Amino acid sequence: MSIATSAAAATRAIAKSFQFGKWTIPTGEVFFTSRLSYGMVNTKPILPGHVLVVPRRVVQRFTDLTPDEVTDLWMASQAIGRVVEREFRGESLTFAIQDGPAAGQTVHHVHVHVIPRRRADFANNDDIYGEIEAQEQAGMHRSLQQGMDADENRKARTLAEMEVESRMLRPFFEQYDVLE
Ligand code: AMP
Repeated sequence: MSIATSAAAATRAIAKSFQFGKWTIPTGEVFFTSRLSYGMVNTKPILPGHVLVVPRRVVQRFTDLTPDEVTDLWMASQAIGRVVEREFRGESLTFAIQDGPAAGQTVHHVHVHVIPRRRADFANNDDIYGEIEAQEQAGMHRSLQQGMDADENRKARTLAEMEVESRMLRPFFEQYDVLE
């Protein structure tokens, strides 16, 4: 095997799991991988197709990212936005980062919310920001692990449900890792 071929093979390793703050995310939730970022479906989507784009390195604040990570994260968000808008029949997109706890961040790891939007999906369009902020992390993970309904308004999805969405989205992207 040439050096070039073995280097390419090395980048196509089978992914086992991904880190999201202190949480380990099963590969089944992940539908996109690039060199420095990954994309996963959401336990509690605010609207259909609400996904998260995350730098692989666990850093809390946007300012902590290197220029390469910022570029990769936003290119990933752009590519993912195109696909989820089309596949979930959106007309527009909300891209949002809650950059630190005072801004509503609950998982201490930079992540971009990518949310397909349609006219009148919320009575007041900007109410979506309140919804993003209202998501409560601890309850989310309890519900994921124990199948509890942690949120009065939205039920956490099971891993099996999330895997269906993730498998639907994967083929639309050229993957950096092998996702099984
Ligand atoms: P934020 O409030 O901006 O920190 O957003 C945290 C986001 O992570 C919310 O949209 C949650 O629904 C989502 N979330 C939390 N835990 C998981 C998980 N295990 N898998 C997928 N999404 C998650």
